[in-house]
Amino acid sequence: MLSIKNLHARVEEKDILKGLNLEIKPGEVHAIMGPNGAGKSTLGNVLSGREGYEVTDGEVLFDGKNLLDWETEERAREGLFLAFQYPVEIPGVSNMEFLKASVDAVRAHQGLPAYDSVSFLKEARARCQEVDLKQEFLKRGVNEGFSGGEKKRNELMQMMLLQPKLCILDETDSGLDIDALQVVAKGVNALRSPDRSFIVVTHYQRLLDYIEPDFVHVLADGKIVKSGDKSLALELEEKGYGWLENEVA
Ligand code: ADP
Ligand code: MG
Ligand code: MG
Repeated sequence: MLSIKNLHARVEEKDILKGLNLEIKPGEVHAIMGPNGAGKSTLGNVLSGREGYEVTDGEVLFDGKNLLDWETEERAREGLFLAFQYPVEIPGVSNMEFLKASVDAVRAHQGLPAYDSVSFLKEARARCQEVDLKQEFLKRGVNEGFSGGEKKRNELMQMMLLQPKLCILDETDSGLDIDALQVVAKGVNALRSPDRSFIVVTHYQRLLDYIEPDFVHVLADGKIVKSGDKSLALELEEKGYGWLENEVA
């Protein structure tokens, strides 16, 4: 599904990713943990093709194709989804129109016709219910005035509608209370399938009680410095990250 080899990337002339390797097979859930400023969000931004992030070395294959050759929109149409650490507000653009335009763009790419408004509304309402978001959120501007938790639920709803191949969740749990956390985890678990993969960036082992990862990686100073199964997350919770620096050194 995703093969990252020796990825180097910089932002504002500063090297952030310094030789990152990661292999993700279809159906797998990979958790990425690591200290603040390690490059976790940068990885998501580089994979989604955000402006200002310059890849200086390495290779990223998505379903065997060179992801880095594509514009951001192409990556999204091919099935890459990034749930932001800080979802952006787009005042004046209705959430409903935004969602429909996004879903129709993906459908067009797959050779499918656009949704008619009535069936899309039905679909969107059902997903609202699933993520415990009131239907009035469909009429509001994208994330406009949404609370932190509402923004995260809205991202999850987008993800459910788009049915991406690879979902990257960047600290989707930060700022969520325990109920919202369970809603998000339930949504992610419902989307798990043998042909869909996830990268879940989190600071807290707690999320991984609900979303059980196949692998846990520690990203430190721009590289994956340790990988393991879910027991690694428990070990990190107990010991912090300091011991790894010694191990790496
Ligand atoms: P993490 O998500 O692991 O906490 P980030 O990927 O957000 O870390 O950041 C890694 C480093 O890159 C930090 O030192 C951060 O300040 C820097 N950085 C990230 N984005 C930018 C940007 N747009 N401009 C300048 N520096 C950035
Ligand atoms: Mg951070
Ligand atoms: Mg981050």
